[in-house]
Amino acid sequence: MFQITPAEGGTTQTASAVIPDGLLDSIEVGIAVIDKNFSVEIWNKFLENHSGKHASGIVGDSLFKHFSDIDENWLRSKVEPVFNLNSPVFIIWEQRPYLFKFSCNRPVTCAAQYMYQNVTMFPIANASGEVERFCMLVYDVTEQALGKLGMAHLNQELKIASRIDGLTGLYNRRYWQERFDEVYKLCQRRDKPSTAVMLDIDHFKRINDTYGHQAGDKVIKMLAALIKRCVRETDLAGRYGGEEFAIILTDSTVENAKSVAERIRVLAQRLVVEHEEQQISFTVSLGLAQFDKKSQSAMAWLEEADQALYEAKENGRNQSCIK
Ligand code: GH3
Ligand code: MG
Ligand code: MG
Repeated sequence: MFQITPAEGGTTQTASAVIPDGLLDSIEVGIAVIDKNFSVEIWNKFLENHSGKHASGIVGDSLFKHFSDIDENWLRSKVEPVFNLNSPVFIIWEQRPYLFKFSCNRPVTCAAQYMYQNVTMFPIANASGEVERFCMLVYDVTEQALGKLGMAHLNQELKIASRIDGLTGLYNRRYWQERFDEVYKLCQRRDKPSTAVMLDIDHFKRINDTYGHQAGDKVIKMLAALIKRCVRETDLAGRYGGEEFAIILTDSTVENAKSVAERIRVLAQRLVVEHEEQQISFTVSLGLAQFDKKSQSAMAWLEEADQALYEAKENGRNQSCIK
């Protein structure tokens, strides 16, 4: 058995393998040797530096005495295969961000609060083949973890961005349509009524022609904000086209939906959009259709709302019509 004496402090540490002098202390990996009773036999420099606990103060003691935040029952059962099956055990940061609560190496540049760790525990057998201790390797994987978490966060943001219309912040047509298909299927299974609403700005071409395209964009944006204020979280509002919006008012009869539609219409009529010192007023028309089990498809349901919108336009605009 090879004996390792730490550079400072008098504690003698023992290991069952021949290890070159200084290796355990120069390596950028935490190395500990721990016996069956979780008594620490070796505690290298990396672990000293990050835990603030010198080997002389921890060797001979139970690991749990010094790290009370480690879940003892969990670690004991995790390590069982090392002793019973003579097989290594791994703890990866994705399962448990860290075993030892060490603060991050570079507190200024590092976004993580604690060091992310991968931990490997290897059985160490004695001359007769019995495993009485294990070697614990603690790898600092903070950078790798932050990279991966950053990517996951970025992917999540991209996913959300791909669903949202840039001008209005409402769902874009593609995503709205996906969600609408789900709502349609749900409506077929449930008995609660839901109503589809199509909304279109009246004579929008005139707004563009009179005030310019940017002014038109501002009108679309302000109207979208107004719609958001008038519908519930559970409703499904999207920008369906240039100046067209589609809304599903869930759990709403067409009569209830009509009062929401009228509220939107009246508020839109009252809204004055300011653009480059010009004041722009406009009106909207809306078409409503309540879900009917006889509807052949989600599109067929929406087309009914679109027909009602057409009627509203035909009847003189600035009104809501029911199919
Ligand atoms: P109607 O009352 O019949 O709806 O008349 P309208 O002038 O609104 O007619 P239509 O719906 O056919 O015209 C829509 C116009 O909206 C045509 C297009 O130039 C304009 N438009 C479409 N998308 C945008 C956009 O993102 N921004 C702006 N500013 N204009 C848009
Ligand atoms: Mg239109
Ligand atoms: Mg229009």
